[in-house]
Amino acid sequence: MLESEAIDVEKLRADFPILRRTVHGKRLVYLDNAATTQKPKAVIDSLVDFYSSHNSNVHRSVHALGEEATEAYESSRKKAAEFVGARPRDLVFVRGTTEATNLVRYAWGEKSVKKGDVILTTTMEHHSNIVPWQLLARRNGAVVKYVGLNPDGTLDLGNFEDLLKEAPRLVAFTHCSNVLGTINDVAKLCSKARSAGATTLVDGAQAVPHMPVDVKAVGSDFYAYSGHKMLGPTGIGALVARGGLLEEMDPFQAGGEMIREVYDDHSTWNDVPYKFEAGTVNIADAVGLGAAVRYLESIGMERVRGHEIKLLDYAIKELTAVKGFTLYGPEDTSVRAGVVSFNYADVHPHDLATILDEEGVAIRSGHHCAQPLMRWLDVPATSRASFHVYNSYDDIDALKRAIQRAGEIFKV
Ligand code: PMP
Repeated sequence: MLESEAIDVEKLRADFPILRRTVHGKRLVYLDNAATTQKPKAVIDSLVDFYSSHNSNVHRSVHALGEEATEAYESSRKKAAEFVGARPRDLVFVRGTTEATNLVRYAWGEKSVKKGDVILTTTMEHHSNIVPWQLLARRNGAVVKYVGLNPDGTLDLGNFEDLLKEAPRLVAFTHCSNVLGTINDVAKLCSKARSAGATTLVDGAQAVPHMPVDVKAVGSDFYAYSGHKMLGPTGIGALVARGGLLEEMDPFQAGGEMIREVYDDHSTWNDVPYKFEAGTVNIADAVGLGAAVRYLESIGMERVRGHEIKLLDYAIKELTAVKGFTLYGPEDTSVRAGVVSFNYADVHPHDLATILDEEGVAIRSGHHCAQPLMRWLDVPATSRASFHVYNSYDDIDALKRAIQRAGEIFKV
């Protein structure tokens, strides 16, 4: 398939068994992809195949199943790393982005962040890129500061530059906001942060599933993503570190596999990345993540992004024409991913989501694990529709009709 060729959504939807089901007697219109995506048959089959034919522990047993499981697990690591332009040895399998930031908090932060240090994050972060730093700051006597936003929901670069003058030890920011959809110029942010002497961490949870990402071009020290938001299974994700950085860090969890030698009074550590993968790892879901990467590569990430831009343009045009509709985040789709957060007149987002559900339309309502951002928006909650490859203009039309139905009920 050519990278420029449009995605044949009808054909592609057939790969996702769940999209055949109905909800309350209506066609399922799944628009909650920023929370988690649906899984293609290729991913589901990879899990069934692993447990049916290859199941064994990894890195331990010389029997055939042990070798097959190890080969499947390590080849998924290679896929997951190469997908974002990294070396397999620099990729630690984790449960997801949340575990990745917590790994950095413990294994890098405890040793590297000192009393009086500044940790810089932003007002648009998910809690998983805020709370670990608050805890680290409390333990080590550091302070967390926040880069503010421009009125359109992009990052205030002037404020970023000002805060860099405080020589932060860590600068942690998202590649793409799960609420506003804002895509940050992460290469520029990393380069400036690095010049200011900071270590950088990029939350790629909403970027890797939706657009081409190359961590070398980004220039981050740490880059995190979650498998379940990119058509893969839950419980698996990745922390990708700059070459050589994992070697310098302390272990995270301690136990089997992460050691080389254990004596009564001390232990030595396994090579990276195994030093950070204590105990029995999540083998089957790592294999499933490899299948998800293969599936996305067969479509091409440029096409995934192109498809989402078309959906976004259409959604913004159609939905902002609805009386009472307030859109949050930048309207320029070149700096926005397929996330549409909004409020509708004074209808509470939970009520709206309930009415939409009756129409078969699944969206998320709430604070989206971004309470500082909700405070900045000055709302308790928003509704959020978010896209992936299997969404179509029909889905957006269904969303619009369901919002209008809510409008009739609430007399908007
Ligand atoms: N960061 C962002 C931007 C997210 O959208 C999410 C998931 N909502 C996370 C981090 C956390 O990911 P996970 O729950 O997979 O750990």
